[in-house]
Amino acid sequence: MITKYTKFIAGIVTISIFYLASCQQSTPQTNSDQDGRVTELMSQMSVEDKVGQMTQITLSMLMKDNQLNIEELKNAIINKKVGSILNVNGTPLSIEEWHELLTSIQDIATKETTLKIPVLYGIDAIHGTTYTQGSTLFPHNIGMGATRNPDLVKQSAKITALETRASGIRWNFDPALGIARQPLWSRYEEMYGEATVLSTVLGSAAITAYEEDGLDQVTAVASCMKHFLGYSVPLSGKDRTPAYIPDTQLREIFLPPFEAAVQSGTSTVMINSGEINGVPVHASKYYLTDILRGELGFEGLAVTDWEDIIRLHGRHHVAATPKEAVKIAINAGIDMSMVPVDYSFFDYLVELVNEGEVPMSRIDEAVYRILKLKYDLGLFDNAYPEQEAIANFGKASYKDVALNAALESITLLKNEGQTLPLDKNAKVLLMGPAANNHGSLHGSWSYTWQGQDESQFADETLTLKSALEAKIGTGNVTCNTTAVFEDAANTSVDFLKKNAAKSDVIVLAIGEKSYAESPGGIHDLNLEANQIELAKAAYATGKPVVLLIAQGRPRVISPIVEGADAIVNLYRPASQGATATMEILFGDYNPNGVLPFSYPRHAGDILLYDRKHTEEVTEFIPDSYGGGGYNPQWAFGHGLSYTTFEYGDIQLDKKAYAKSETITVAIDITNTGDRDGKLAIDLFVSDLYASVTPSYKKLKKFSKENFKAGETKTVTFTLDGKDLTYINAESQKTLEAGEFTVSIGDKKSTFELK
Ligand code: BGC
Repeated sequence: MITKYTKFIAGIVTISIFYLASCQQSTPQTNSDQDGRVTELMSQMSVEDKVGQMTQITLSMLMKDNQLNIEELKNAIINKKVGSILNVNGTPLSIEEWHELLTSIQDIATKETTLKIPVLYGIDAIHGTTYTQGSTLFPHNIGMGATRNPDLVKQSAKITALETRASGIRWNFDPALGIARQPLWSRYEEMYGEATVLSTVLGSAAITAYEEDGLDQVTAVASCMKHFLGYSVPLSGKDRTPAYIPDTQLREIFLPPFEAAVQSGTSTVMINSGEINGVPVHASKYYLTDILRGELGFEGLAVTDWEDIIRLHGRHHVAATPKEAVKIAINAGIDMSMVPVDYSFFDYLVELVNEGEVPMSRIDEAVYRILKLKYDLGLFDNAYPEQEAIANFGKASYKDVALNAALESITLLKNEGQTLPLDKNAKVLLMGPAANNHGSLHGSWSYTWQGQDESQFADETLTLKSALEAKIGTGNVTCNTTAVFEDAANTSVDFLKKNAAKSDVIVLAIGEKSYAESPGGIHDLNLEANQIELAKAAYATGKPVVLLIAQGRPRVISPIVEGADAIVNLYRPASQGATATMEILFGDYNPNGVLPFSYPRHAGDILLYDRKHTEEVTEFIPDSYGGGGYNPQWAFGHGLSYTTFEYGDIQLDKKAYAKSETITVAIDITNTGDRDGKLAIDLFVSDLYASVTPSYKKLKKFSKENFKAGETKTVTFTLDGKDLTYINAESQKTLEAGEFTVSIGDKKSTFELK
């Protein structure tokens, strides 16, 4: 199994020179330290004490034979003065084990050191409380983007805060605010989708849920907007490889979610491991100080990502030595180093401060932010896991939220001749690698980092196979699939042929196994050949075939789209995902998820919904389905329902608006079918002419409404100047007079901005 520990890069020479305590200090300019406790504490700290606070190590450093090694822990906290620890040692812990671990850590920090500074523990609870046994896991962000429902994001994040805090952990490295525009990328599932506004609105909803109660409350955790900035579009598609982003796009597409996150009060930020236009973000004063602090006004703590300071030397080659890497990163604006597998950072930084290469003012600024967060989190009042928080773990109601989130995310892509919903008396042949596998339904950071250890999922968590059996009875299900995704039995064409005749319908659960970060890299967006062959064999039987796709990114399936009777995209629906899938398959729930991305038809034709007009140009390409232009398999926002909706004309309150005016957009929508259903409503704006080529359209607003059968509702949105600006060639936000189009569903209306 790959664990974070295998990321260890050995051989960095640590220079163990300890300097005498130096209490020199300059007080950072801030007015939030009202009671002076932080500055008072800082006045007693040596350079070593301060640099120790800026050091974060991983738990595996402190483990021996899977046990916490107390001597190593003492060395870390007492000698190396480590201020923060992260992660888990491979497998999830029970609540009791977390409490025991954190108690041992805080005992040493608060009882055996002179300054008694508690340790700040951080974790990746990115779609639920990842590393605590029995926690509730919610759909990955890509699925949450499909819900178009900020309230569900908020509810899920609230539960994540409760279960994380119940585990004794107060800092969560979430949410990820990149924009999913490179479908090869292995972290696509962690993003809310292709459109900036999805990340802006849903990311902020998560941050609000994490922090709104106040960080010292047992219902809250400190959030961490990540990965600042421009991480999600590596040109090669491989994780942590270079991105090339013009400033106009950086500011228009990638920056707004972070801007909103700061306004929503996020306490911390994690930096992008990659590089933009040849500049590693960890080395960039422009990104880390000028934009983050200067433009966004962020005052919280900036932590690196994994090993990213040392990688300025080893990977990016912008620092000639590891020590120079530390100097560059700290001077650029890093407050805390996720070192996290040795103590080199501590040694180098102490040297650099004493040599005058890193100003004390920079150290003080960083330490101030770290200690302030520890105070805000209530760690100085009680560093230990809070007993009263335990009651907030594992409540039955959390399952309802996880179920609702999965239900609202799952997206019906195709439903020929109303194949779905299926009859509950149907005899079903279920096959495919995802049919009996938890990982593919859960994705990354699901009890383990890679989410592939099937033994870590709670017994009550259903696979598609067990959920189907629960729904229609074991006797009606034929299934030979195993829990091992790659098992040849799961895609056995022989088995399919032998068993098709006795079934009314064939359901194939295809897609991707679970993966996280670099191990999830792929060279080809096309779905693997054995799964394509399985589907084709199913079509050849003449039985109706339903494809269920569990995947973190849109794998190209064009060779098998036409033959399928119904296709359902599950994303990574997590703990209640299998149950939700069956509710939809058998008509107990009317699907309403819509694509948060453009589903590609060809691996070599990745055109996004907000393409430029020049990309609309139709080129003749031999042997292709279409002639170019925006020709995805399914467009951004596509998603079917078991009912039908009709859009009335868009009503604007005026024909022309001043720049300062609010624009009210109303539309009547009718559920013209005979069953109730929810509808995701996307509002796009097109700026018809601008000095920087405008996008074809941009998603600006979205909502989710419930409609009774036959019901008509007026849905209203408001737009203002902020929604109509673009970034000009001088990198400035610009609001220009001119004509704009607003579109919802198949309706459009035009207005003028004066
Ligand atoms: C990931 C981060 C994560 C960190 C800590 C890194 O490899 O990029 O998203 O928060 O590890 O586990």
